Amino acid sequence: VTPIRTCVGCGQRGPQAGLVRFVAAGDGSLAIDRDRRAGGRGAYLHADASCWRSFAGRRGPVRSLRVNPSRPARVTLCEALDAARCGDRAERRG
Ligand SMILES: [Zn+2]
Repeated sequence: VTPIRTCVGCGQRGPQAGLVRFVAAGDGSLAIDRDRRAGGRGAYLHADASCWRSFAGRRGPVRSLRVNPSRPARVTLCEALDAARCGDRAERRG
């Protein structure tokens, strides 16, 4: 059975394999969890830069994380996703 997760950027559901997991650290920052091994509560974003931008511009708590990440924390996560080349789909699309 393929796990289905919800992207917190676009709000669409999809197979876990096409999504990148991230977790909220105790200091309020957000960290990529590529191996999906980090403990605690995680949330998912598509491997698509447009979803990260949507997430960065959104306000309000992330239900699956039970925290309300600050805008700088969201932007920092986007930059980390870019740096880690998580956005393969976006790069191919140009
Ligand atoms: Zn998405």
